[in-house]
This record gives sequence, C-alpha cells and structure tokens, in this order.
Amino acid sequence: MNDSPQNESSVSPPGTHELAADRERRQILESIPDAIVMVDLDWKFTFASQRALQLLNDPNVVGHDIFELFPGNLEEPFYSCYRKTMAERVSTEFEAYYGGTLDVWFKVHARPHEDGIIIFFRDITERKRSEAELRASEERYRVLADLNPLAIWMGDAAGQITYANQGFLAYLDIVVEDLHGMGWLDNFAPDDQDRVFAAWTRSVNTGVDYEIEARLRSAANGEFRWWHLKAAPVRDASGAILSWLGVASDIHDAKISAEILREQQAKAERRRVELETIYRTTPVGLALIDPVHFTFLNLNDHEAKMLGSVKEDILGRSLNEIAPPDKLPGLLELMREVAGGRHVRDHLVEGELAARPGERRAWNVNYSPIYNEDGSIRAISTASIEITNQKKAEAALIQSEKLAAVGRLASSISHEINNPLEAITNLLYLLAYDPQLPEALKLYVHMAQSELSRVSQIATQTLRFHRQAVAATLVTPRDLVGAVVQLYAGRLANSGIRVEAQYRTDTHILCFENDIRQVLNNLIANAIDAMRTGGRLLIRAHASREHCVPDGRSGIRITIADTGHGMSPATLARVFEPFFTTKDLQGTGLGLWISKGIVERHQGRLHVRSSEDESSHGTLFTLFLPCQETAPAAS
Ligand code: ADP
Ligand code: MG
Repeated sequence: MNDSPQNESSVSPPGTHELAADRERRQILESIPDAIVMVDLDWKFTFASQRALQLLNDPNVVGHDIFELFPGNLEEPFYSCYRKTMAERVSTEFEAYYGGTLDVWFKVHARPHEDGIIIFFRDITERKRSEAELRASEERYRVLADLNPLAIWMGDAAGQITYANQGFLAYLDIVVEDLHGMGWLDNFAPDDQDRVFAAWTRSVNTGVDYEIEARLRSAANGEFRWWHLKAAPVRDASGAILSWLGVASDIHDAKISAEILREQQAKAERRRVELETIYRTTPVGLALIDPVHFTFLNLNDHEAKMLGSVKEDILGRSLNEIAPPDKLPGLLELMREVAGGRHVRDHLVEGELAARPGERRAWNVNYSPIYNEDGSIRAISTASIEITNQKKAEAALIQSEKLAAVGRLASSISHEINNPLEAITNLLYLLAYDPQLPEALKLYVHMAQSELSRVSQIATQTLRFHRQAVAATLVTPRDLVGAVVQLYAGRLANSGIRVEAQYRTDTHILCFENDIRQVLNNLIANAIDAMRTGGRLLIRAHASREHCVPDGRSGIRITIADTGHGMSPATLARVFEPFFTTKDLQGTGLGLWISKGIVERHQGRLHVRSSEDESSHGTLFTLFLPCQETAPAAS
C-alpha cells in the first residue's frame, strides 16, 4: 500500500501547489452528478470525487487498491465488468448490489481511460428498494387478480393489452401473448368489434373511463356471451396515464333475462292497451263492484251513460244509490250471492234507475266474482246490455201484428159489405123516388140515405187505408187531411172538439198517400188525446217554401194545432224517440218516431212547438212536404 502524501486526493483542499490543469479537471469532474473514481492500470485509485468519498464512506482511497479496499468489487458483476473495460477498452454498464459494510445498490458505468479506467456510479438503493416493493405488491395483485372471479385485464398507456387474469384467459382459452397487438379484439363478436375498438381508442386518446357491453366468445362452447367491460386509467403524480386497469363481468344471463322481461312487459302492455280499448269502446256496460260495500270500483263509459251519468260521478258511489232496491227488486240479493262465489249468466234485470225515475227499463246482465290470489273475492264484475227497446219492440210487434190482423179483417169485412151496401143504396133510391111513398116516410128514407152514405164512405176509406201503395201518387192537401178527419169524425164529436180546416192551396204533391195519411193520422190522434175535455183542432194547408234553408224548396205546409194540455220541455225534447210515451199502456210511443221517418223519406220536415202556459196551452205540429218531380223512396 502506498500512502505517499503527494497523491492527488480530493480530501486535500485544492492547494496552491496543484497544477492549474488539474484544478480545472477536478472542477469539471466535481460538477458531474455521478460519483467518480479513477483507477490506474494497477487497479489503484488515482482520483475520487467528493461525492465518491461520501458514498464509499472512506476519505482515504487514493493510492489504495480497489479490490483490497473494497473486496466487494471481486464479486460479479463488478469484477468482470471492470476487467472487461480495462482489458478490452470498452464501456460497461450495470446495476448491482454492493453488500458488506456498504449495503448499497449502485448503478455503475465504467469507461476506459488512457491510464486505466474511470468509474461513474451512483446510489440507487432507494429506487431498487421501491422497485422490489413494487414487484412484490404487483405480484400480490397478480395473485389476487388470478384468484378473482371477475375478469381483470390491463393495458399500457398506448392501449396495448398487456395482461388478463387466469379466469379471463381460461374463459377465452388463450394465453397473454394472444392479446398482443390487436389480438385481443378477435375475441369479440364480429358485429361488436368496431364498436369496442372505437370506444377503447377513444378512452386511450382522451383518458375517459372505458365502459361497454359486448359479446365475447366463450371457448367452452364457442357461443358469444354478453360481457360488461370497464376500465379506468392509472395516473402518476403529474396526472399522466401510466396504464389502464380493467374489469369485465359476464352479464349474459342477466341481460337475456332482462330482455325477456322487457319483451314480456311490452307484450303485457300491448295486451293491456287492447283490453283497455275494448273496455272503453264496447257497446256493453262493464263495471267492477266492491263485494262488501257494493260500491263502484270501476266502470266504462257505456255503463256510465246507461246509468245516466259520467264515470267520475259514479266511481265510489254505492249501487243502492244508483239502482234503488225498491225500484230494482232482487238485485241486491243477487249481488250478495255473486259476492259468495256464484256466477250468473243472462240475468234479466227490470226496473227503474234513480237517474231516470218513472222509466221502466230492462237489462240482460252477466255477473262474475273476481278472485284475489289467496282465493278471496276482490270484486264483482258485471256486463250489461240494455234490452228496454228490444222488449218494447217485441211488445209493439205483437201489437202491430194484432192491428194488422184487425186491419185485414176490417178490409175484408168492408169489401164484403160493399155489395149489400150498394144494393141497399139502390133500393133506397127506388124507395125515395116512388110516388106512392107517403110524405111522412120520405124524411126517414132521406135520413136513411145520408147515414148509409156515411157508412159506405167509411167502408171505402178502410179499404183504401189498408191497400199498400205501390207507387207515389199526386194528391192535394185536402185529399190527404179530409179522409183522416172523416175517419175521426166520431171521436172528435164525442170529445167535444171543434175542427177548423182551411185549405189555401190545391197544389198536387207527389207522395205515398197512405204513408202521409198515417203521419196525419198520428198527429190528429195525439191532438185528440191531448184534448180529453174538448177544444179546438185547427188544420191549415198552404203553399210555402222550406224555412231555415237558403233558397228553400217550394212545397206545401200543413199545420195541425190543438188547444190541448201541451208538453213540458222535458217531454218535448224526447217526443221523436222510439217508445217514448206519457200515456202508459194506452200509448206505444212509436207514432211520432214512425212519422218522422216517413217525412224524412219524403225529404220533408216535421217540427213541433208546444206550451203548457195556462192561458195559451196547446201544441203545433208543422209538416212541410216539398213539391218533387221525382217520386220519394218507397218504404
Ligand atoms: P204515443 O201517442 O203512443 O204516446 P207518440 O209518438 O205519438 O206516441 O207521441 C209521443 C208522446 O208525445 C206522447 O206520449 C205525448 O206525451 C207527446 N205528444 C205528442 N203529441 C202531443 C200533443 N199534440 N199534445 C201533447 N202531447 C203530445
Ligand atoms: Mg201517438
């Protein structure tokens, strides 16, 4: 060991005896951040920078043998690297642990130097330790990731997939290397690849979290299953992206069952809309009734209309209120039976509703209990069809059949008596002009002749009434009205009704004579009904134009006015409805309804005005018939 004091050494303060060039070199070397030592061809230190002395923890190295002073340098890779640099004159570079007293990790760079080698080195212990720690923790995470039932994957900052955990690799039946480049994309369903790639590229470029649902091929059976993939960037302290960490989970079964559920819901919704439409539009009254309190839980518009109200006003109200038990006998008992589980079909309900007192109506109703899941009864459903008019029509049909039979009988009778009548007429004529007839008897014969002419007139009228018209005929108002008044002459006289008829026109109009006569017959019969205690029947006919229409057609207007009791506004509003009558069993309620139909077929009009006023009560019907060139439609 050479301890000569003249050695250059960084420990001796830069002395004045130092050469200027050496000083300069020293300053340059000291300014380099690495620690530096120089060794001559005999492996002796010739220089050590301040930093080197600190690192080596020895102020007196210069002049000493590098291997003697620091035996750790005999270890690899120090030894062979130094020797290589010395012998082959090439640089070597390595990182290595220097044990023993130093216990340091060095990064070493040895370069050849004209008198030996120059060694640059720095302490990297801390970095090495944290790297080791990182490796250990990465390893722990790797184990965790492999144990994790979730699929876990990683990508680098550039978007290359660098890792997938065991579970994920096993599902895809690939190795990590298969993921490299664009390999990972091949595992997705061909239809999904573009979408997946676009989303991943976007995340890698912008740093936003990656999240997508796509199908991945299952190696087990080759089928594509839906997966949910999610990834977030891992950033360093400055915010730069270091890598991407992702998870993925198989959502196939959940997604498929959600889809099935959605489809089922859509189907159920469609069915609900269909049923709702039927419920709203069916011409059947439908209601749900509470089985305990008999209140309305629900009903459709048709039911509400049938009950004479609107849905909102009926909901929640009790059946008793709307259909009073005294007016609809038996209904409540029936409901109780249905509430006990009985089904009832085609049940005839007859009576009055609170909303329309005095009006007898009829319904055909089905009742069924509706059950809860636990088997208890939740509601009573009712489906009702109103058959009031049907029942009335049946009665009217029977009645009209009877009348028709009577009519046919009457016409055959009148036909049969026509011949004897003619004979009697002729005989009476002979009798009246017999010169031997005593004066006193002549008056009786005249009276007999006049009564007989009335009888034969009635007989011919009856015949005419009954004969069905096949073609429209031209008639005057006088022809039309006269015959009807004639027919009612007896009833009019008996009721003390004075008839005043005025015909201001003899225009012929083309019509079905019998039909129009039936209209006049109905109007006059109603007038007589309204004047039980006598009155006046005013009949007028005049040429006219249709009112209330610009350029109204010309025609005739027949008015029939009575001084009867008149009608209330409520009655007036309904007179043309079929079966509407205020006459109970004496009326059919069909007269005006039929009349209106006949008048409409003739393109005419039928109007009514009425008053119950004490001083001026009575009713006025106006019948307008247009003069037509073409015949009206036959009935
Ligand atoms: P009906 O005579 O069988 O009752 P209609 O259709 O002929 O049937 O008449 C319907 C209702 O119109 C009658 O029940 C009556 O209330 C009312 N009505 C018709 N004409 C008159 C009238 N001239 N005066 C008072 N009420 C009338
Ligand atoms: Mg009538």
